[in-house]
Amino acid sequence: MTLEIAFLDVGNADSIVILPPQASAVVVDVPKPRRVQAWLEEHKKTVIDCIYFTHNHRDHLPSISVLKTFIAEWFKKGTMGTVFLPTGATRNTALSNDSDQADLIRDAIDNLLLWEEKRLLEIRRSERGSGPDYFGEIAIHILHPRYIFSELNPDRANETSLVLRVEYGEFSTLLLADLEKTGLTKFLALCSDDELECQVVKIPHHGAWQPNNEGAIQSLLKRTNPELAVLSVGSRNQHGHVAPQLFEELLTLKSDDNKRLQNFVCTEVTRTCICSSEDRATMGKSGLSKAQPCVGDIVILARSSGAWEMKDSEEHKQYLTKIIRAACCDRADLST
Ligand SMILES: [Zn+2]
Ligand SMILES: [Zn+2]
Repeated sequence: MTLEIAFLDVGNADSIVILPPQASAVVVDVPKPRRVQAWLEEHKKTVIDCIYFTHNHRDHLPSISVLKTFIAEWFKKGTMGTVFLPTGATRNTALSNDSDQADLIRDAIDNLLLWEEKRLLEIRRSERGSGPDYFGEIAIHILHPRYIFSELNPDRANETSLVLRVEYGEFSTLLLADLEKTGLTKFLALCSDDELECQVVKIPHHGAWQPNNEGAIQSLLKRTNPELAVLSVGSRNQHGHVAPQLFEELLTLKSDDNKRLQNFVCTEVTRTCICSSEDRATMGKSGLSKAQPCVGDIVILARSSGAWEMKDSEEHKQYLTKIIRAACCDRADLST
């Protein structure tokens, strides 16, 4: 029996599909509804047990009217359980001065409420302490945020990101959305080592580095002590991701025999694996001109014993020989 976790290649965004053994699908973030729909159709899934939206940014949560359309489309063929919406998910209702836009938003909220009345779905807010939620043999623990912390920082969506720990027997993975700055520090202070240690970690915020907060990301990597680090990052991102300092940190862990890290993988190739440090200096924060998959969709197959493998990893190794400066092969120019 295998748990399948797919980190879909959706550019500089997150979309994760979890297929527990002998159960339906659980989805984390849907920035591109069609991608998720196609993936689930391919896997012959007609039930989405749960969708967790980690925070109110468009690279994780679509606009409320696009979300409504996605759910309406899904209901034509399938069913849905719970939808976890973050604080502020519908706040743009008040912000929209455009009356057509405001109508669309109101219509979407009316639909969500109607579906709830008809018991077609349930909308909930997520916070640390609720759950765990069980889907067949897997348990999903909500480790962050605390409700009171999100109230204190309503406009700092990354810092109040939902963090999920997925457990299947001895296997666990930590999904850290875009957690950064004070949020990351608060999260680390709240969590026990047992809650953090995992085989697979999804690095927060698409390979950003956290200036003035470096201790936090190092502490995160030390305490999670992962065997694999996954980066969902887009080639064309305009933020300079993946930050060379982050690759440097991961390489140091990879070469340390006392650490478990075996590898780190990215959904797409970024400028850090293509350009020299000198070239990057002339580019500002801009990325590559075209999207270029590295692994593409990263699919992890895990067993309850804790053993796991990445699907198509041999093909990926082969592909890496063509990436002259691949950071995971220690060929990147990481000087800054
Ligand atoms: Zn993001
Ligand atoms: Zn974000």
